[in-house]
Amino acid sequence: MQENIVPVLIVGGGPVGLALAGDLGWRGIRCLLIEQTDGSIYQPRMDLVGVRTMEFCRRWGLVATVESSPYPRDYAQDNIYLTSLTGYELGRERFPGIGQAPPPPQSPQRRERCPQNMFDPILGGFAAAQNSVTLRYRTRLVSFAPNADAVVAEVESAETGARERISARYIVGCDGARSLVRETLGIRMRGNPVLTYTTNVIFRCPQLLSLHDKGKAYRHIFIGPEGTWSTIVAINGGDQWRFSIIGGAAQHEYTTEEIKAAIRRAVGCDFDFEILSVLPWVRRELVADTYRFGRGFIAGDAAHAMSPTGGFGMNTGIGDAVDLSWKLAATLEGWGGDGLLDSYTAERQPVGARNVAEASGNLRRMLSVGAHPDIADDTPAGAATRAKVGREFSEMMRHEWFTLGIHLGYRYEGSPICWPDGTEPPADEARTYLSTARPGHRAPHAWLADGRSTLDLFGRGFVLLGFGVTPAGAAPLLEAARDRRVPIEFAGIDEPHIVALYQRTFVLVRPDGHVAWRGDRMPDDPLHLIDVVRGAAIACKMG
Ligand SMILES: Cc1cc2nc3c(=O)[nH]c(=O)nc-3n(C[C@H](O)[C@H](O)[C@H](O)COP(=O)(O)OP(=O)(O)OC[C@H]3O[C@@H](n4cnc5c(N)ncnc54)[C@H](O)[C@@H]3O)c2cc1C
Repeated sequence: MQENIVPVLIVGGGPVGLALAGDLGWRGIRCLLIEQTDGSIYQPRMDLVGVRTMEFCRRWGLVATVESSPYPRDYAQDNIYLTSLTGYELGRERFPGIGQAPPPPQSPQRRERCPQNMFDPILGGFAAAQNSVTLRYRTRLVSFAPNADAVVAEVESAETGARERISARYIVGCDGARSLVRETLGIRMRGNPVLTYTTNVIFRCPQLLSLHDKGKAYRHIFIGPEGTWSTIVAINGGDQWRFSIIGGAAQHEYTTEEIKAAIRRAVGCDFDFEILSVLPWVRRELVADTYRFGRGFIAGDAAHAMSPTGGFGMNTGIGDAVDLSWKLAATLEGWGGDGLLDSYTAERQPVGARNVAEASGNLRRMLSVGAHPDIADDTPAGAATRAKVGREFSEMMRHEWFTLGIHLGYRYEGSPICWPDGTEPPADEARTYLSTARPGHRAPHAWLADGRSTLDLFGRGFVLLGFGVTPAGAAPLLEAARDRRVPIEFAGIDEPHIVALYQRTFVLVRPDGHVAWRGDRMPDDPLHLIDVVRGAAIACKMG
């Protein structure tokens, strides 16, 4: 058996593993990613790339590639609630095509619609372009032993069946909901293992839009006499549609005839279509107890399994990857302290729990309509039911459609590597996001005079922002960082609107773009502050 040695072994080449490999490579860290399949997507799951993920894509230089992916950018993104496509419309939330919607004022980026069969190859291309990254498809993790000084993994090639041993300093399981890495590390998931047994079907029907009068929309939610029962999503904005029978807590295997009948029921007429794939799956509400055990880590669906209602799963997982990546890099480069890798769980596990709960709340809201036997009746009573259900459902579903707070408002409250400034946290609401440079939060976006975003300053190492001061005024902290070999740059900013937004004379931003510390003067003990933010000391009271 051959033996191979790498600093980081990533298991799983879904979006989260690819993002982690790409970000590590972007930081110059050598890593090997193994993926058991050939990388082709049997059935695209995610399609919403959230604002924060797009900010990471901006950092990685991928925005133009995402924007030029084949999903049509003028395809209306309405969400419609209806009895069937040819039946009654109960309500509608209108959204323009992705390319026609401006970014929110709090970000340089807008959210994008880029289904997994388009997005994974973009992340894969980014990872493959990094010199220090090796991607090996059709290679499966068979087992591994997390020893004290290394991880020794056994992997198997699907081409030849040959087995090989790989030694790594760290292993990261981005291997999805049934993660072998998580299982081997003995990490438990808590929550609800079954919300629904759902069946997704991709079908091809180029003429679907001509069969009804509802026009283009992204998502159709079907409400029948029994309540909400299925959805159809415009998965490629062209000829393919994803039909989803939401199901319930009891498992049911549908025959092809049952699936065809259900699709015809949702459309409301007999018509021709081709079923491309059927994917029964289990909707879960689970979060791992810890995201780390020794030299092993988990990220993405391996760490949290949530209902897709809201489109948070991959976006949360890419947030995990970005948080873990710089910490692994810092540790491997020798400037990360002993506590840095532990802060990964402290920071990301609460975000996972928050987003899992929010996704389940969205599901509950969608299913809360209940039975209305007359909803499709052509009678005054039926019309009254439709008006009431439509009004109430439309209002309630706004909670799922407007989620800037989820994507940008997560914060690392109580993180051992952020220095709190004693201010109260703003409310953590799904819908609204208040830009703040409070420690633990994402450093806010503002446009600089030269046309860049403040976010364009962050990413490689730490950045010390100085508002109305020169680098000389920031020397104590810059010198302390250099003393500890922490990569740091100074950026002076004078624009009044950014000074007002950041609220302090000095703001220290980490490589992932989160605020580590802020203050109006240099700290009394700059070395201690630097030790805290690199995970080498616990914060003690300091000026
Ligand atoms: C219908 C639906 C719609 C969704 N829509 C959205 C959305 O719009 N936005 C969003 O953010 N999220 C969405 N999600 C969730 C999203 O798809 C997942 O959160 C995301 O795919 C998780 O990525 P991952 O890389 O963690 O795991 P996965 O995508 O599951 O990838 C894990 C990879 O690990 C590989 N692997 C597993 N075991 C091994 C092994 N032993 N050796 C080697 N390789 C292994 C697998 O082959 C797989 O490729 C949706 C989910 C569903 C079901």
